[in-house]
Amino acid sequence: MVKPALIVHGGAGEIPQSEEADYLTGCQQAFEAGWHILECGGSALDAVEAAVRAMEDDPTFDAGVGSVLNSVGEIELDAMIMDGATLNLGAVAAVRGIANPITLARRIMEHTAHNVLVGEGARRFAEQIGLRLCSQAELTVPREVARYREHQQAVLEEHGGHDTVGAVAIDRAGHVASATSTGGIAFKMPGRVGDSPLVGAGAYADDLCGGASATGHGEMIMRVLLSKTATDAIARGMTAQEAAEHAVSILQDRVQGKAGVIVVDRQGEIGFAHNTPRMAVSWRTPGGEIRAVIRRQRVG
Ligand code: ASP
Repeated sequence: MVKPALIVHGGAGEIPQSEEADYLTGCQQAFEAGWHILECGGSALDAVEAAVRAMEDDPTFDAGVGSVLNSVGEIELDAMIMDGATLNLGAVAAVRGIANPITLARRIMEHTAHNVLVGEGARRFAEQIGLRLCSQAELTVPREVARYREHQQAVLEEHGGHDTVGAVAIDRAGHVASATSTGGIAFKMPGRVGDSPLVGAGAYADDLCGGASATGHGEMIMRVLLSKTATDAIARGMTAQEAAEHAVSILQDRVQGKAGVIVVDRQGEIGFAHNTPRMAVSWRTPGGEIRAVIRRQRVG
């Protein structure tokens, strides 16, 4: 029997000091939601879905409720879940009016012959299977309306956002799963799809080595397949922490991207690295203590 493990992230961006407590609480609660499942002998897939759903429901993060607004003031969501046992995956991109896109991604993986649905088709499938639909207003929080108004006045900063959420787990049976969910980057063009729903970029999972989930500047993350780069590094013999650091250094060296990545290997060791100012993560130490931290920049 394998030692189960889980790590979650709540994005890697500026994380204002005034919001630190919300990030820490949100990450820890998401961790606990996922960990409860693993502890009771549940699957890694159930654990990462539960952890990500908790953060989609938490308005602190840029996923589900609380997502950033695009350039026309609307919310379009991306999400992906991957099963390391089968390498099967489900993803949604640029979908509107769905409170829990990670669950929609999982239903696509398990109940369709496809891997990825976008926009209106994804929403229609959600409706067909009875997932909760919601209005744009239900997903929109005052913080993001204010940010949108500021963006309208100013030149768009390089890439706002970075409060994407993600989780990676391994269960007692040795199965690995990863999940990532996001509202994307603030003021993005309608129809823009980031790294999060792209396999190997926003997440990857393979029972033979481990799993990863990324956050940061999607246009750069996808160029180096950040999550696959991390899991490949494990396959080549690196520890989970070395693999996370290696993947971020490739991103930095090859495309000067800014991002963070969390990793779990098949021994249940966790790792994370980022080259953004901060990253919010929660995991359980080998001694059993649940940690939630906002880590300052640390690469290599
Ligand atoms: N990676 C996400 C995207 O580019 C943004 C984020 O991580 O906050 O859509």
